[in-house]
Amino acid sequence: MMRTVPIKVVLLGDGRVGKTSLVLRYVNATFSEQQTPTIQASYLTKRLNFNGAMVTLAIWDTAGQERFHALGPIYYRDADAALLVYDITDKDSFDRVKSWVKELRKMAPKDIILAIAGNKCDMNSQVDLKDSERYAASIGSSHFNTSAKSNIGIEETFLDIARRVLEQKKALAE
Ligand code: GDP
Ligand code: MG
Repeated sequence: MMRTVPIKVVLLGDGRVGKTSLVLRYVNATFSEQQTPTIQASYLTKRLNFNGAMVTLAIWDTAGQERFHALGPIYYRDADAALLVYDITDKDSFDRVKSWVKELRKMAPKDIILAIAGNKCDMNSQVDLKDSERYAASIGSSHFNTSAKSNIGIEETFLDIARRVLEQKKALAE
């Protein structure tokens, strides 16, 4: 059997920003206007071939506990990457990305790879893209605008995460 590199990605962000929708679009190619706040599985997996290396992304989604900032250590344990999601139509959800980053600093591995997704880019933005890109750069994160509804930017986001995690693992192994 071919070797596959496991990569754990945790999703963070306020309720209703579209975390579950992003995962379901990416893994199952589906979208629902009435996405329910809870899902059954704690994570979904997606295998991808990355420059000849097989990668299995385990994408951890919350079951609504993000409302209480009560995700617990097991959520963050062994995480290789965090995808911080906000809703571009909701400025507060962008400001709150900073508190999610604080949470990561407390709970997650020090060298965790960060990516930020400004989701719902099929709608008009209330957040200045320059501000969000500048903030992302200041914490060593990438930034993407995404739409789970229109399937924009999602492949790019997860490929960027996989690429940077693989680079880090390679650097550590050398
Ligand atoms: P979560 O609480 O962060 O997991 O957010 P959900 O995935 O449950 O989505 C909350 C609501 O936003 C649902 O009604 C979704 O249909 C809607 N939604 C999610 N992503 C998008 C998007 O890219 N564009 C638009 N217009 N709506 C979205
Ligand atoms: Mg959800």
